[in-house]
Amino acid sequence: MINVTKSYLPDLEEYTEYLKGIWERVHLTNDGPLLRRLEGEMKDFLGVKHLKFCSNGTIVLQMALKAMNITKEVITTPFSYVATTNALLWEGCTPVYADIRPDDFCIDPDKIEPLITEDTQAIMATHVYGNACRIEQIQTIAEKYNLKVIYDAAHTFGATYKGKSILSYGDISTCSFHATKVFHTVEGGCIVTNDDDLAQKLHHYRSFGHRNDEYFSVGINAKNSEFHAAMGLCILPKVQALIEARKQVFAWYDERLDFSRISRPTLTPGVSYNYAYYPVVFDSEETLLHVVDALKAQEIVPRRYFYPSLNTLPFAAGSEPGAPCPVSEDVSLRVLSLPLYPDLPEADVDRIASIINQEVAVRSAEVL
Ligand SMILES: *Cc1c(COP(=O)(O)O)cnc(C)c1O
Repeated sequence: MINVTKSYLPDLEEYTEYLKGIWERVHLTNDGPLLRRLEGEMKDFLGVKHLKFCSNGTIVLQMALKAMNITKEVITTPFSYVATTNALLWEGCTPVYADIRPDDFCIDPDKIEPLITEDTQAIMATHVYGNACRIEQIQTIAEKYNLKVIYDAAHTFGATYKGKSILSYGDISTCSFHATKVFHTVEGGCIVTNDDDLAQKLHHYRSFGHRNDEYFSVGINAKNSEFHAAMGLCILPKVQALIEARKQVFAWYDERLDFSRISRPTLTPGVSYNYAYYPVVFDSEETLLHVVDALKAQEIVPRRYFYPSLNTLPFAAGSEPGAPCPVSEDVSLRVLSLPLYPDLPEADVDRIASIINQEVAVRSAEVL
């Protein structure tokens, strides 16, 4: 079985060394020493000012909204994992969907401005597949209308824009360290900001709003444990090598796929990529479904990242009449993420590419 991704696991002995320390200290969670060390190492690795290691990549989006008092309309992308929209709905905000760019599938800044009303408070955009949004254009709009910018940067660990971590942009950026992501802590995530006051607020939010017996604010339980931090400490030093290995797999696909009939999203100029995903776009959903069947028959499991277009979700659509998003609705029907992980063998990439090329060729012959 070849899945869309396979979690990297460090040497068991290395992880066990950390466990011995946990057993000695009996400090399992609540701002423990491994968590603090991981936060420090991640800040150095990413070059960001404030970073809070939290329990997942969804709760940090919710904390971002709460920390900036965002309760009304938020302009967001229809092309992302469902968590982006869920966070908004869960916090009682109204998602207003701006369509995506047809080349890189990130939010289209030109579609944002016409959607701004007096209730618009923020822009929540996703750096799709680890590629950066049009950051400067979004910032210009945000400044003009006094909006906050939150980036769901769940895919971007290790990717940079203009030489800086993509996580360093926006008022707040968040990341996920779920087992399927480029860098993982089994479950986990982080929230990043350059603002000292926000960082202090988020620190309290993470543990119920209190520290010891002092109560500072409302809060939630977004803490993470020493066991998760230990996994992060094992994997972080290897991230660069893991990204290099992903880059090689990426190149093998590039060499083998027949791009006369399929395409790939483009990268934003200025991005140094982390090779988080390998999405391909087919001519139609029918072709995509045929390819999925052909791959599944060989026990190869791609995933429809991202489908459906979030503006079509019944529980999201009711919230705001909103304009349709024809680009996102179209792309989401035709895009498929192929298996991509550091130790995916070249022979498997060969096999996957052959199946796809053959299926696409057969389909286009049938259509003619
Ligand atoms: C994975 C992901 C999330 C959610 O992260 P979890 O850690 O699983 O909660 C949020 N947004 C995007 C874009 C993601 O891909």
